[in-house]
Amino acid sequence: MKAFPAYIDLRGRPVLILGGGAAALAKARLMLAAGAKLTLIAADFAPETKAELETQARLIAREPVAADIEASVLVFIADTEESEAWRWAEVARLAGVLLNVVDQPELCDFTTPSIVDRGRVTVSISTGGAAPVLGKRLRADIEALLPPRLGALAEFADRYRDTVKATIAPEERRTFWEEFFDGPIAAQILAGDEARAHEAMLALVNRPQAEEKTGAVHIVGAGPGDPDLLTIKALRLLQRADVILYDRLVSDEILSLARRDAERFYVGKAKSNHAVPQEEIEARLIEFARQGKMVVRLKGGDPFVFGRGGEELEALRNANIPVFVCPGVTAATGCAAAANMALTHRDHAQAVTFVTGHAKGEADPALDWSALAALKNTLVVYMGVTKAETIAAKLIEHGRGRDTPVAVIENGTRENQKIVKGALGYLAHLITASEIKGPALLVIGEVAALADGETLIDIIARQRAAA
Ligand code: SAH
Repeated sequence: MKAFPAYIDLRGRPVLILGGGAAALAKARLMLAAGAKLTLIAADFAPETKAELETQARLIAREPVAADIEASVLVFIADTEESEAWRWAEVARLAGVLLNVVDQPELCDFTTPSIVDRGRVTVSISTGGAAPVLGKRLRADIEALLPPRLGALAEFADRYRDTVKATIAPEERRTFWEEFFDGPIAAQILAGDEARAHEAMLALVNRPQAEEKTGAVHIVGAGPGDPDLLTIKALRLLQRADVILYDRLVSDEILSLARRDAERFYVGKAKSNHAVPQEEIEARLIEFARQGKMVVRLKGGDPFVFGRGGEELEALRNANIPVFVCPGVTAATGCAAAANMALTHRDHAQAVTFVTGHAKGEADPALDWSALAALKNTLVVYMGVTKAETIAAKLIEHGRGRDTPVAVIENGTRENQKIVKGALGYLAHLITASEIKGPALLVIGEVAALADGETLIDIIARQRAAA
C-alpha cells in the first residue's frame, strides 16, 4: 500500500485551492460535495470558475501568503506554474498542512481517488498515481455493480440501528442485518419504495424471532441473447440470486454471469416438448421465496412481452410474496438493432404492432386479420415461424399487398443470427429456403426492406456456389 486511504470529515472546515482555472474548478467541486468551507486564491479566475463558484466559495484575487496556507486543513495547488507550486509546497510542508499539487505526484502528500458516490456509501479507487485511466475504468465497473439507491439503503439501516439494538439480542444482530440486506425490505428500498419498506421494517423488528422469513422474487428480462444487452440491474440481480429459474431462450452465456453457487432450474420446454406447467413454475417460485431465498425468474427478452410475466406477478402477489420486475430488451427491438432496421420510420411506418403467431395445436392464430392488414405500419410477429404461410395468406386475403416487404430474423443478437428478407407473397418460401426454424421474428411492412439480410436470390446463389 503506497498511501493509506482515510475518509476525512471536511464539513465546515477550511480548505484552500491556489488557482482559478479548470483544474481548480474540478477540485472545488469535490471539496464542495464534501461540505468544506472553501477558499480559492488566484491572480485571476476563469469566467466558468467564477460563475460556478461565486456563491459557494470565497474567491480572492491576489497573491497567496503563508498565513493562507497555515489556516487550512487541506491545500490544493492547481493551474499554477511549476516553480511557484514548489515554493508553496515548501510553505505547506513547513506548516504541516496536507497538500495536493495537480498533476505533480512527487509534490503531493495526498491524492484524490476516483470516487463512486452513493451518498452515505462511497467507494474510492487509487492506483497510487500509477495509472489514473485504469482507476477511472475500475470506477466505471464498480458504478455498474452498485445500485443507484445504495446510499438510501445505508441511510435506512442507520435510522433503525438503535431500534434494532433495543429489540434484537446482540448475538443475533449480525445475522439480522445480513438477512436484512439480502431480503425483500432492502429490495424495496433499492426499488424506491421506502414507504412500504418502513412498514415492513417495523413489523420485522417488532415480531417474535421464531417466525419464518420470506425471500423475494425478481422477474427479470434476459434480453434476446447477447449478454451485453442485459440491463445493469439484471446483471446485479443475477449476481445476488440464491435460485434461478430460467427459460429455453436464456443463453448459456447469460447464465454463466450468475452467482457461481446459485441453484439453477430449467423450466422451459425440454427436447420431448413438455414444458414445466405454468402453475408448477409459480408454485416453485412461491416455495423458494417462502424458504427465505432470493429468487430470480429469468425470461428471454422482456418478461411482459409474450412472456407470461403478468401471470407470475399475479400469482406471487396473491401468495403475498414480495415481487419485483426488471425489464429486458424485447426480441423486436433487439432484432431490429441487429438488422439495422428501424421499427418506426418517418418515411415508412408511424406505428409498430407486436402480435403472437402462436396458437393452440394446429389451429390458426386468432388474430383480427382485417385490422392488422389495414394498418400500413410495421407488424412484428413473435412465435410466427410455423404459421408463417397462414399469416401471409390471411394478411394478403384481407388486403395487404403481396409485395409488402418482410424480414425474418432468427436468433437475433446471437452469434448464430440469421436474417433474410423478401416479399409477403413468398414469406413461407423464404423461410424454407433459408432453413429457419426459430426462435425467429417475422417483420412485415415497408421498414423490412431496410434490413441487412439475404434475399431469396442471394440464398439460391450461395447454395449453388456451395453445391
Ligand atoms: N419475452 C420474449 C418473447 C418470448 S416469446 C421477448 O420479449 O422477446 C418467444 C418468441 O420470441 C420466439 O418464438 C421468437 O419469435 C421471439 N424471440 C425471442 N428471442 C429471439 C431472438 N433472439 N431472435 C429472434 N426472435 C426471438
